[in-house]
Amino acid sequence: MNKNKVIRSQQLRFMVYTLIAFTLLFGIFGTIIFSQIKTTLYAKTDTDLNGYKMMIESGGRGAENGTVPDKNPFTDKNGFPPPEKGGRPGFNPRVIPIQWNKSGEIINIQQIGFINYENYFSSLKFDPSTVGVISNMNINGTYHFRTISVPHPSETGSYIQLMVNVDSEQNLIDNFKRIIIICSIIFILLSISASFILSRKMMKPIIRSWDKQVEFVENASHELRTPLTIIQNKLELMQTTPEKRIMDTFENIALSLSETRRLSRLTTDLLTLARADSTETQLEKQTIDLDEFVHKVCSPYAEIAELSEKHMWLKLHSKIRLEADPARLHQLLVILLDNALKYTGEHDSIGISTYVKENKVYIEVSDTGIGISEEGLSRIFDRFYREDQARSRESGGSGLGLSIAQWIVDSHHGSIQALHNQPKGMIFRIRLPK
Ligand code: ADP
Repeated sequence: MNKNKVIRSQQLRFMVYTLIAFTLLFGIFGTIIFSQIKTTLYAKTDTDLNGYKMMIESGGRGAENGTVPDKNPFTDKNGFPPPEKGGRPGFNPRVIPIQWNKSGEIINIQQIGFINYENYFSSLKFDPSTVGVISNMNINGTYHFRTISVPHPSETGSYIQLMVNVDSEQNLIDNFKRIIIICSIIFILLSISASFILSRKMMKPIIRSWDKQVEFVENASHELRTPLTIIQNKLELMQTTPEKRIMDTFENIALSLSETRRLSRLTTDLLTLARADSTETQLEKQTIDLDEFVHKVCSPYAEIAELSEKHMWLKLHSKIRLEADPARLHQLLVILLDNALKYTGEHDSIGISTYVKENKVYIEVSDTGIGISEEGLSRIFDRFYREDQARSRESGGSGLGLSIAQWIVDSHHGSIQALHNQPKGMIFRIRLPK
């Protein structure tokens, strides 16, 4: 699989998805606002049209004797329409009632006014689809009306069509539509650039982990190949000299065995890290007495240290019971103690201390050994990093120990820090939540 090709196609996919999401969101948002504005703008007109329609249907004055009502039927005793809430008159003077006879002719030209008739309605034909339904109507392609038709209450086949000029509303809607279209174009252009930037950002951790994975596999195969080559060489050598006794080839056998052990340790470490990456490993937490636990793990190491003329001291003052996975915590201490023993010489000292500070539990493993360079300090937790390849290999190290230590601490929601010890050596400080 070509890395660049996969990454490019994945990035493109991310970009398209983000663009679709952005466009959909803006589309929905724009449509809601647009329809809301349209409804609000027509709301007053439609209420007036419906009120007028009801007035005709309920037999308003004038409608009874076959003419279009020209007054609100619910007038007060002086003949004025009663004010609505807010003191406004009872019906909208913008409503123009047109009366159609059975033959589809307008018969109330006088009532709607000759100028109105000539300008707007002379070419108008009755549209039966407007009966009982408020709809938009366009006259001469210029004038916009909201209209509804009502069957004449006493003359079958005749209709009263109510018209309200909505040119100003339509103008507003057209302007708003234009603004929405311009905004959509700008937004889509912005979305394309935003999606591109976002998709690049999203790909970064994927590329990083891809590179890490490739590096890990390369390092792992290199590490596995070295002991395998040694074992193969030794076995081939033994094969060429079958007459030799086991005693004579003892050195080769011992070396092969040590490399086999190394291989086995390496595969276990690799498996641990692979499982850590896939978050397959579940912690089995238990309540443990930390000081007692650390003491138990360190005891055999004190004896080993003594044998190699090193001094090991313990200062266990945490007095705490901790929720942790004992097997993992044991592994973590073993890694640090192993390293402390590996990288110290005769008469050096190794110290283990536990304490509680600011509601956190600390475990420190320090030594007065060879220490590490400034550059090494920042890379010490990287997989396969070894300060001194030859020395580390000699002591059986593969550079995976501290990576595993870091994973164990992380999975317990803590942190691990490597510091220079004074005057020499290292301090590994683990901080865990209480
Ligand atoms: P290794 O198996 O090689 O020890 P680690 O991951 O445990 O792998 O350690 C990585 C490197 O960090 C080692 O190769 C060594 O150079 C350095 N290191 C770790 N612990 C110590 C220590 N206590 N003192 C000096 N160097 C250390």
